[in-house]
Amino acid sequence: MVEKDRTEFCAFHFRNETDGKCSLCGLTLCNLDQQYNTAADRICQLCYNISRARKIIKYFQFGLWGVAIAIFIIIWQVMGAINFFAMIPLLLVLVFPYITRPLIMKLYFRELEPRESVLPTIRYFEASGNQDHYKLFMKMIGKISEEEMNEIKPKLFDYLVPALAFNYAKLPEDWDTELVEKLKMSKDEFVGILLSDYRKTLIQTSVHNPQENFSKFLIYLSESAQDEHLLEEYINEITSKDVISSTDEELNTIYNKLLEELYLYEEKFNEICDELKLTKQKDLIAQLLKRYEPPPVPKNQIEAVLTIDQLKEKRRKENEQPPIILSNPNEEEQTETEEE
Ligand SMILES: [Zn+2]
Ligand SMILES: [Zn+2]
Repeated sequence: MVEKDRTEFCAFHFRNETDGKCSLCGLTLCNLDQQYNTAADRICQLCYNISRARKIIKYFQFGLWGVAIAIFIIIWQVMGAINFFAMIPLLLVLVFPYITRPLIMKLYFRELEPRESVLPTIRYFEASGNQDHYKLFMKMIGKISEEEMNEIKPKLFDYLVPALAFNYAKLPEDWDTELVEKLKMSKDEFVGILLSDYRKTLIQTSVHNPQENFSKFLIYLSESAQDEHLLEEYINEITSKDVISSTDEELNTIYNKLLEELYLYEEKFNEICDELKLTKQKDLIAQLLKRYEPPPVPKNQIEAVLTIDQLKEKRRKENEQPPIILSNPNEEEQTETEEE
């Protein structure tokens, strides 16, 4: 069913082969996309619209500030004092961005049909995890005809699957019910496509390049399709030679996110191993967790502003040299709870 890799067709005109990328956002373009920025770099219609809209909004805001300040001064002079009425124009300036939001959206999607905006908006969501981008995608997909939907669907999945998997934690409640309704397919069909066409990619990515809550996404898929083998394959990949034989440093850098998932959902992983009788794998996961260095927890306000790397470095130094000052009982309590 996967006809083409998403790097091969235009993100705006899905029927066309791509002949380049937007130099700002990286979306694929075709010969219909001929917008350039002032530096003569080829950009997509969306990036072109956004930079143009930002300029318009900026000028408009400057103008609005000018008018607001002028009215403020007039009211002040006429009334002889600064009162509530003088503040109204200033309030208008503050609520301006909210009132004009629909208009700004129109500027952003100027000269773009909904079918041309579907793939770009879901790609935006994939990169940003911003729920507004997801809402926008849902809006766009609701506007395209059934015929267009059937045509775009196979290509859409190439964009949709990573966007969902990488941002599973950010999806709204009942996202699947709403999505399959818009896609005009059943939930079984939807999950079926993910588990057949994207199975290998999902398992590989979930282990070798995971994001927060990727494991939950796989658990969701496996439960929805009642496909236990998926979790078995996932756990086999986690405990594969590639992961197990990596050094402690590699493990804590390359597989950092994977270890974090194992650490956070240790009980769930153990449960799955028990259910599927994966005794060996359960032991291997326990071994992996022993080698995991969870990010240090800041102990005070000063440490709270440090980055995780700075904090790790600090702890390393602290461990090298014994503390000069005898630790106070509070601190001892903290270390105990940490070890638990
Ligand atoms: Zn672009
Ligand atoms: Zn195009």
